[in-house]
Amino acid sequence: MVQQEQDKVLTDTERVVGRQALRNNVAAAVALADAVRSTLGPKGLDKLLVGGDGSSLVTNDGVTVLETAKVEHPTAKMLISTSRAQDDEVRDGTTSTVVLTAELLVNALELVDRGVHPTMIASGYRMCGPVIEQTLDSISKPADAAKSLSTVKTSLAGKGDVGMQTILAELAHQAATATGSGETDHVRVLTERSGSIKNSELIPGIVLVKARVHREMVMKPNSGRILILDGGIEKRRPEIEASLKITNLGAIDAFHARETADLQARVDALKAANIDCLVARDGIEEEAHAMLAKAGILSYRRVERPEIEHLCRATGARPVFDVQEILDDDVGQFNSIREEKWQGVEHTIFEGSQSQGVTVVIRGSTEMRLEEAQRAFDDALGVACQLVRNPQLLPGGGATQIALARRLRRHAETIPGREQMAIEGFAAALEVIPRILAENAGLDPIDELLKITAAQAQTDSAWHGLDVNTGKASDMDQAAITEPLSVTRHAIAGATEAAISVLRIDDVLWAKQDAQEPDWQADQD
Ligand code: ADP
Ligand code: MG
Repeated sequence: MVQQEQDKVLTDTERVVGRQALRNNVAAAVALADAVRSTLGPKGLDKLLVGGDGSSLVTNDGVTVLETAKVEHPTAKMLISTSRAQDDEVRDGTTSTVVLTAELLVNALELVDRGVHPTMIASGYRMCGPVIEQTLDSISKPADAAKSLSTVKTSLAGKGDVGMQTILAELAHQAATATGSGETDHVRVLTERSGSIKNSELIPGIVLVKARVHREMVMKPNSGRILILDGGIEKRRPEIEASLKITNLGAIDAFHARETADLQARVDALKAANIDCLVARDGIEEEAHAMLAKAGILSYRRVERPEIEHLCRATGARPVFDVQEILDDDVGQFNSIREEKWQGVEHTIFEGSQSQGVTVVIRGSTEMRLEEAQRAFDDALGVACQLVRNPQLLPGGGATQIALARRLRRHAETIPGREQMAIEGFAAALEVIPRILAENAGLDPIDELLKITAAQAQTDSAWHGLDVNTGKASDMDQAAITEPLSVTRHAIAGATEAAISVLRIDDVLWAKQDAQEPDWQADQD
C-alpha cells in the first residue's frame, strides 16, 4: 500500500538511486573537468568559445569556459558554482578546483566499487582537512614585495602574451599595494580604446568621465580642499504642492530674489569653509554656476555613488548633506585635478592625498584585446589583493599537492578504519594537478610525478615542483613559481566540500519534462 502510494506520488518523476546515481554524478563531473583540463597551467591550450549569438572568444581561463558552457546536469552545475565561488573569493585557482573535485569523485567511486560506503569516504575526506591546513601552514613562506609581484605574474602565466602579463601584473601589484586594504573594489578599472597596453597607467585617484559644470571655473593645477555633497545645489522645492498667489508684480520678483539669495548663501558657506572643489551627487542649479565660478570653486555635478565613494577613499573626504554644516573633518584633500580629452571625450583626473582609492587605466587598440586584458587584470588584481591580506606563499608547479599527498599517505597509516582508504584516495587525487601540468606541457605525467616526489624526499623540501618551462624538477622559490596560500587552500577546501556533497547524494529525482525539440533541430528551421 505504502509502496503504491509512493509510486503514484512519483509518476511524473524519473528516479535514479544508489550507486547508479553516484556513477552518473561522477560522469558529469568528469565530463566537466575534461572540458577545462587542457587549459591548466602556463602551457595550457586556449579554447575558442562560440556563443549562441555567434560571438567568439579565445580564452585560457577555466571559469570563462565553464560559464559559457550550456550545462544541464545538476552535478555539473554544482561544480560550476564551486568554481565560481573560488573566482568570486580569490579570483584564481578555478580550473584546479574543478579538476580536483572530479578526481576526488573518481577515486571515491573506485572505493565504492570496492565496497566502501560513501559516508565512510566522506568521513575520510573530511579527516584530511586539518592535516592539510597544518601542512600548508608549515610549507608556506612569507612574501616580500618582489615575491608578491612574481606570484601575480605566475597567476597570469598562459593568459595573453608575456608583454601584457608583465605590464598587468605590475599594475595590479602596484594598485593593491597602494590601497593597502586588500579590497579589489578600492581599485577602479577603466578601459580606453586608444594607444597600446604599454600606455596603461595607475592613477592615484579617480577618473571621472565628465567636465566641470562651467567653463569659467578655473582649473588650478595645485592641491586643494574638496567637499563631497550627498545632494545638490538646487532651489528648494516646496514640500507640499502650493500655488503661488500673485497679488502684485513685485511678489514674483521677491520670490526669485529669495531663491537667488538662498543659492548665494550656500555658495558663501562653501567659500567660508575654504572649499576649492565641490563634487555633488545631484544637480547644481544653472544660476549657481556663475556664483561658484566667482567664488573660485571648481564644481562637478551628478556624480554616481560608486564614484563618490571612491573619491572619498582617494581624498579622505566625508560626504555632507548640508553645506551649511561643514566640519573640517568632512573636507578632503586632493593633490591635483586636471582635465584631459581622451578620444574626444572630456575626462577629469583627480589625484587624491590618500592612496585608498586608485584607478588603473588599461589601454588597447581593439575591443577584443581590451576585454582580454581586463579579464587578466581582474585575476591579477584578485591575487595581488589576496597577498596584501595574507602575504604567505606556497610553491606552484604541483609541489604543494605532491607534498600534501606525501603527508596524507603517512597520516593514513595511522588510521585503522576504512577511512584510511579514503585518505589514500584523497592523496592520489591531489596528484592530478602535477599530472595535468606535465601532460599539458607534453611531458610524461607518471615520470614527472615520480621525479618530483623523489626530489622532495631527497631534499626533504616541499618546494620542489615541476617547472614546465624547463621541464625540470626544481626549487619553486628559485624558479619564482609561487601561489598565494589563500588561493590553494581555498581551492582544496572548495573541491573537498563539493565532492562530499556529491557523495552524499544517493537518490536523484528528475521532474519529467515535456518533450521538447532538441536545440540543434530548432536551429535548423
Ligand atoms: P587555475 O584556474 O587553477 O588557476 P591556471 O591555468 O591558472 O589554472 O594554472 C595554475 C597552475 O599552473 C598552478 O598549479 C600553478 O602552480 C601552475 N604553474 C604556473 N606556472 C607554472 C610553471 N612555470 N611551471 C609549472 N607550473 C606552473
Ligand atoms: Mg590561475
